[in-house]
Amino acid sequence: PSITRGVTVEIPKVTWEDIGGLRDLKKKLQQAVEWPIKHSTSFTRLGISPVRGILLHGPPGCSKTTLAKAAAHASQASFFSLSGAELYSMYVGDGEALLRNTFQRARLAAPSIIFFDEADVVAGKRGGNSSNNITVGERLLSTLLTEMDGLEEAKGILVLAATNRPFAIDAALMRPGRFDLVVYVPPPDLEARYEILCVHTRNMKIADDVDLRRIAEETELFTGAELEGLCREAGIVALREDISATVVRDSHFQTVKKSLKPALTEAEIE
Ligand code: ATP
Repeated sequence: PSITRGVTVEIPKVTWEDIGGLRDLKKKLQQAVEWPIKHSTSFTRLGISPVRGILLHGPPGCSKTTLAKAAAHASQASFFSLSGAELYSMYVGDGEALLRNTFQRARLAAPSIIFFDEADVVAGKRGGNSSNNITVGERLLSTLLTEMDGLEEAKGILVLAATNRPFAIDAALMRPGRFDLVVYVPPPDLEARYEILCVHTRNMKIADDVDLRRIAEETELFTGAELEGLCREAGIVALREDISATVVRDSHFQTVKKSLKPALTEAEIE
Protein backbone atom coordinates (compact mmCIF):
# COMPACT_ATOMS: atom_id res chain seq x y z
CA PRO A 1 0.00 0.00 0.00
CA SER A 2 1.11 3.52 -0.73
CA ILE A 3 1.12 5.15 2.67
CA THR A 4 2.01 8.55 1.32
CA ARG A 5 -1.13 8.79 -0.75
CA GLY A 6 -3.23 11.80 0.10
CA VAL A 7 -0.55 13.64 2.04
CA THR A 8 1.01 16.85 0.84
CA VAL A 9 3.92 18.55 2.55
CA GLU A 10 4.88 22.18 2.08
CA ILE A 11 5.25 25.48 3.86
CA PRO A 12 2.21 27.26 2.42
CA LYS A 13 2.58 30.67 0.76
CA VAL A 14 -0.75 32.07 1.97
CA THR A 15 -0.44 34.94 4.45
CA TRP A 16 -2.84 36.50 6.99
CA GLU A 17 -3.27 39.42 4.56
CA ASP A 18 -4.74 37.08 1.95
CA ILE A 19 -7.71 36.50 4.26
CA GLY A 20 -10.40 39.18 4.37
CA GLY A 21 -12.20 39.94 7.65
CA LEU A 22 -11.87 37.69 10.74
CA ARG A 23 -9.52 40.11 12.50
CA ASP A 24 -10.04 38.81 16.05
CA LEU A 25 -9.93 35.22 14.95
CA LYS A 26 -6.64 35.74 13.13
CA LYS A 27 -5.19 37.27 16.30
CA LYS A 28 -6.40 34.33 18.36
CA LEU A 29 -4.79 31.87 15.95
CA GLN A 30 -1.60 33.88 15.84
CA GLN A 31 -1.30 33.48 19.60
CA ALA A 32 -2.26 29.83 19.65
CA VAL A 33 -0.11 28.76 16.70
CA GLU A 34 2.74 31.19 16.23
CA TRP A 35 3.70 31.85 19.84
CA PRO A 36 4.35 28.25 20.92
CA ILE A 37 6.43 27.66 17.78
CA LYS A 38 8.35 30.94 17.80
CA HIS A 39 8.70 31.36 21.53
CA SER A 40 8.71 27.80 22.85
CA THR A 41 11.38 28.63 25.45
CA SER A 42 9.10 31.28 26.99
CA PHE A 43 6.41 28.67 27.43
CA THR A 44 8.87 26.28 29.08
CA ARG A 45 10.19 29.08 31.30
CA LEU A 46 6.72 29.86 32.59
CA GLY A 47 5.75 26.21 32.78
CA ILE A 48 2.69 26.54 30.58
CA SER A 49 1.73 24.02 27.95
CA PRO A 50 0.71 25.33 24.56
CA VAL A 51 -2.49 24.36 22.81
CA ARG A 52 -2.07 21.04 21.05
CA GLY A 53 -5.14 20.97 18.88
CA ILE A 54 -7.53 23.53 17.44
CA LEU A 55 -10.93 22.71 15.98
CA LEU A 56 -12.18 25.12 13.32
CA HIS A 57 -15.84 24.82 12.52
CA GLY A 58 -18.21 26.69 10.28
CA PRO A 59 -19.88 26.56 6.88
CA PRO A 60 -17.92 25.43 3.81
CA GLY A 61 -15.94 27.96 1.77
CA CYS A 62 -15.34 30.37 4.64
CA SER A 63 -11.56 29.96 4.90
CA LYS A 64 -10.93 27.21 7.46
CA THR A 65 -8.28 25.63 5.21
CA THR A 66 -6.83 29.01 4.26
CA LEU A 67 -6.52 30.02 7.94
CA ALA A 68 -4.63 26.81 8.74
CA LYS A 69 -2.27 27.47 5.83
CA ALA A 70 -1.71 31.10 6.83
CA ALA A 71 -0.94 29.97 10.37
CA ALA A 72 1.64 27.53 9.00
CA HIS A 73 3.14 30.21 6.78
CA ALA A 74 3.40 32.70 9.62
CA SER A 75 5.22 30.22 11.82
CA GLN A 76 7.21 28.73 8.93
CA ALA A 77 5.88 25.32 9.83
CA SER A 78 5.67 22.32 7.50
CA PHE A 79 2.08 21.76 6.54
CA PHE A 80 0.68 18.23 6.40
CA SER A 81 -2.81 17.93 5.03
CA LEU A 82 -5.08 14.95 5.56
CA SER A 83 -8.69 14.44 4.58
CA GLY A 84 -10.99 12.53 6.90
CA ALA A 85 -13.05 11.31 3.97
CA GLU A 86 -9.99 10.03 2.16
CA LEU A 87 -8.67 8.17 5.22
CA TYR A 88 -12.07 6.64 5.71
CA SER A 89 -12.24 5.35 2.15
CA MET A 90 -8.91 3.54 2.28
CA TYR A 91 -8.40 -0.19 2.64
CA VAL A 92 -8.67 -1.49 6.17
CA GLY A 93 -5.52 -0.58 8.05
CA ASP A 94 -4.16 1.80 5.42
CA GLY A 95 -5.91 4.82 6.92
CA GLU A 96 -4.41 4.16 10.36
CA ALA A 97 -0.99 3.59 8.80
CA LEU A 98 -1.23 6.88 6.93
CA LEU A 99 -2.26 8.70 10.11
CA ARG A 100 0.66 7.28 12.10
CA ASN A 101 3.04 7.92 9.23
CA THR A 102 1.90 11.54 8.98
CA PHE A 103 2.49 12.18 12.69
CA GLN A 104 5.90 10.52 12.36
CA ARG A 105 6.84 12.72 9.42
CA ALA A 106 5.47 15.80 11.16
CA ARG A 107 7.73 15.06 14.14
CA LEU A 108 10.75 14.80 11.85
CA ALA A 109 9.85 18.00 10.01
CA ALA A 110 8.89 20.02 13.14
CA PRO A 111 7.73 22.69 13.56
CA SER A 112 4.72 21.20 11.81
CA ILE A 113 1.03 21.71 11.46
CA ILE A 114 -1.15 18.74 10.67
CA PHE A 115 -4.36 19.90 9.04
CA PHE A 116 -7.28 17.57 9.17
CA ASP A 117 -10.12 18.41 6.80
CA GLU A 118 -13.58 16.83 7.15
CA ALA A 119 -12.49 15.74 10.61
CA ASP A 120 -15.97 14.56 11.62
CA VAL A 121 -15.70 11.65 9.18
CA VAL A 122 -12.86 10.21 11.24
CA ALA A 123 -13.44 11.81 14.62
CA GLY A 124 -17.17 11.28 14.64
CA LYS A 125 -19.03 10.13 17.73
CA ARG A 126 -18.58 6.49 18.53
CA GLY A 127 -21.96 4.92 18.18
CA GLY A 128 -23.31 2.56 20.79
CA ASN A 129 -22.44 -0.29 18.49
CA SER A 130 -23.76 -3.36 20.27
CA SER A 131 -21.88 -5.86 18.13
CA ASN A 132 -18.18 -6.35 18.75
CA ASN A 133 -17.28 -5.04 15.33
CA ILE A 134 -15.06 -2.01 15.58
CA THR A 135 -15.91 0.28 12.72
CA VAL A 136 -13.37 1.91 10.39
CA GLY A 137 -14.16 5.30 11.95
CA GLU A 138 -13.59 4.03 15.48
CA ARG A 139 -10.21 2.56 14.58
CA LEU A 140 -9.14 5.81 12.94
CA LEU A 141 -10.38 7.84 15.90
CA SER A 142 -8.53 5.66 18.36
CA THR A 143 -5.33 6.00 16.29
CA LEU A 144 -5.77 9.76 16.19
CA LEU A 145 -6.25 9.92 19.97
CA THR A 146 -3.14 7.82 20.56
CA GLU A 147 -1.08 10.02 18.27
CA MET A 148 -2.36 13.24 19.83
CA ASP A 149 -1.66 11.99 23.34
CA GLY A 150 1.83 11.05 22.18
CA LEU A 151 2.48 14.67 21.23
CA GLU A 152 3.06 15.51 24.87
CA GLU A 153 6.82 15.38 24.61
CA ALA A 154 6.97 16.45 21.00
CA LYS A 155 7.54 20.13 20.55
CA GLY A 156 6.24 22.26 17.74
CA ILE A 157 3.48 20.02 16.43
CA LEU A 158 -0.02 21.29 16.28
CA VAL A 159 -3.14 19.63 14.92
CA LEU A 160 -5.75 21.83 13.26
CA ALA A 161 -8.99 20.12 12.36
CA ALA A 162 -11.84 21.49 10.29
CA THR A 163 -15.46 20.44 10.15
CA ASN A 164 -18.88 21.68 9.10
CA ARG A 165 -20.44 19.41 11.71
CA PRO A 166 -18.87 20.15 15.12
CA PHE A 167 -21.75 18.47 16.96
CA ALA A 168 -20.68 15.19 15.34
CA ILE A 169 -17.17 15.27 16.86
CA ASP A 170 -16.52 12.66 19.54
CA ALA A 171 -16.30 14.12 23.04
CA ALA A 172 -13.04 12.27 23.65
CA LEU A 173 -11.33 14.72 21.31
CA MET A 174 -12.46 17.68 23.37
CA ARG A 175 -10.58 16.65 26.51
CA PRO A 176 -7.78 18.93 27.71
CA GLY A 177 -4.57 18.30 25.81
CA ARG A 178 -6.43 17.41 22.66
CA PHE A 179 -8.58 20.02 20.94
CA ASP A 180 -8.20 22.70 23.61
CA LEU A 181 -9.44 25.47 21.39
CA VAL A 182 -12.68 25.43 19.43
CA VAL A 183 -13.15 28.28 17.00
CA TYR A 184 -16.18 29.20 14.93
CA VAL A 185 -15.30 30.56 11.49
CA PRO A 186 -18.38 32.53 10.43
CA PRO A 187 -19.46 33.53 6.93
CA PRO A 188 -18.21 37.01 6.05
CA ASP A 189 -20.10 40.13 7.23
CA LEU A 190 -20.27 43.28 5.11
CA GLU A 191 -16.79 44.56 5.96
CA ALA A 192 -15.25 41.11 5.50
CA ARG A 193 -16.95 40.71 2.10
CA TYR A 194 -15.46 44.02 1.02
CA GLU A 195 -12.01 42.93 2.15
CA ILE A 196 -12.38 39.56 0.41
CA LEU A 197 -13.36 41.30 -2.83
CA CYS A 198 -10.28 43.52 -2.46
CA VAL A 199 -8.04 40.47 -1.95
CA HIS A 200 -9.36 38.69 -5.01
CA THR A 201 -9.29 41.70 -7.35
CA ARG A 202 -5.84 42.78 -6.17
CA ASN A 203 -4.15 41.39 -9.29
CA MET A 204 -7.01 42.11 -11.67
CA LYS A 205 -7.34 45.16 -13.89
CA ILE A 206 -10.69 46.58 -12.82
CA ALA A 207 -12.35 49.68 -14.26
CA ASP A 208 -13.13 52.80 -12.22
CA ASP A 209 -16.85 52.05 -12.39
CA VAL A 210 -16.44 48.92 -10.25
CA ASP A 211 -17.64 49.75 -6.73
CA LEU A 212 -16.50 46.91 -4.48
CA ARG A 213 -18.32 48.41 -1.48
CA ARG A 214 -21.61 48.23 -3.32
CA ILE A 215 -20.91 44.67 -4.49
CA ALA A 216 -20.16 43.74 -0.87
CA GLU A 217 -23.55 45.15 0.14
CA GLU A 218 -25.29 43.17 -2.56
CA THR A 219 -23.71 39.82 -1.72
CA GLU A 220 -25.19 38.97 1.63
CA LEU A 221 -24.81 35.25 2.50
CA PHE A 222 -22.03 34.80 -0.06
CA THR A 223 -19.08 32.81 1.27
CA GLY A 224 -15.45 33.74 0.66
CA ALA A 225 -15.23 30.96 -1.91
CA GLU A 226 -18.25 32.33 -3.76
CA LEU A 227 -16.86 35.88 -3.73
CA GLU A 228 -13.58 34.57 -5.10
CA GLY A 229 -15.58 32.79 -7.83
CA LEU A 230 -17.50 35.99 -8.58
CA CYS A 231 -14.27 37.91 -9.23
CA ARG A 232 -12.79 35.19 -11.41
CA GLU A 233 -16.01 34.76 -13.41
CA ALA A 234 -16.32 38.52 -13.96
CA GLY A 235 -12.92 38.36 -15.65
CA ILE A 236 -14.08 35.48 -17.85
CA VAL A 237 -17.24 37.39 -18.83
CA ALA A 238 -15.09 40.38 -19.83
CA LEU A 239 -12.99 38.13 -22.04
CA ARG A 240 -16.02 36.42 -23.49
CA GLU A 241 -17.36 39.83 -24.49
CA ASP A 242 -14.08 40.93 -25.97
CA ILE A 243 -11.04 38.70 -26.01
CA SER A 244 -8.75 41.76 -26.18
CA ALA A 245 -10.45 43.50 -23.21
CA THR A 246 -8.05 45.50 -21.02
CA VAL A 247 -10.26 45.97 -17.95
CA VAL A 248 -13.07 44.20 -16.10
CA ARG A 249 -16.09 46.49 -15.74
CA ASP A 250 -18.97 46.76 -13.30
CA SER A 251 -21.34 45.29 -15.90
CA HIS A 252 -19.26 42.09 -15.90
CA PHE A 253 -19.53 41.77 -12.13
CA GLN A 254 -23.28 42.43 -12.34
CA THR A 255 -23.79 39.76 -15.03
CA VAL A 256 -22.11 37.14 -12.86
CA LYS A 257 -23.81 38.28 -9.66
CA LYS A 258 -27.23 37.90 -11.24
CA SER A 259 -26.46 34.31 -12.20
CA LEU A 260 -25.25 33.34 -8.70
CA LYS A 261 -27.30 32.28 -5.76
CA PRO A 262 -25.52 31.78 -2.44
CA ALA A 263 -25.52 28.20 -1.20
CA LEU A 264 -25.76 29.30 2.44
CA THR A 265 -29.09 30.08 4.04
CA GLU A 266 -29.78 32.27 7.06
CA ALA A 267 -30.68 29.16 9.04
CA GLU A 268 -27.21 27.66 8.62
CA ILE A 269 -25.44 30.53 10.32
CA GLU A 270 -24.64 29.96 13.99
P1 ATP B 1 -14.38 23.64 3.17
O1 ATP B 1 -15.16 23.47 4.44
O2 ATP B 1 -15.24 23.49 1.95
O3 ATP B 1 -13.11 22.90 3.12
P2 ATP B 1 -13.03 26.07 3.94
O4 ATP B 1 -13.79 26.75 5.02
O5 ATP B 1 -11.85 25.28 4.31
O6 ATP B 1 -14.04 25.21 3.08
P3 ATP B 1 -11.27 27.44 2.13
O7 ATP B 1 -10.92 26.21 1.38
O8 ATP B 1 -10.26 28.00 3.04
O9 ATP B 1 -12.64 27.21 2.91
O10 ATP B 1 -11.73 28.60 1.14
C1 ATP B 1 -12.13 28.34 -0.18
C2 ATP B 1 -11.66 29.47 -1.08
O11 ATP B 1 -12.35 30.66 -0.77
C3 ATP B 1 -10.20 29.74 -0.94
O12 ATP B 1 -9.61 29.62 -2.21
C4 ATP B 1 -10.09 31.16 -0.44
O13 ATP B 1 -9.20 31.89 -1.24
C5 ATP B 1 -11.47 31.74 -0.58
N1 ATP B 1 -11.83 32.41 0.68
C6 ATP B 1 -12.68 31.97 1.63
N2 ATP B 1 -12.77 32.84 2.66
C7 ATP B 1 -11.93 33.86 2.36
C8 ATP B 1 -11.53 35.06 3.03
N3 ATP B 1 -12.03 35.39 4.23
N4 ATP B 1 -10.66 35.88 2.41
C9 ATP B 1 -10.14 35.57 1.20
N5 ATP B 1 -10.46 34.45 0.52
C10 ATP B 1 -11.33 33.60 1.09
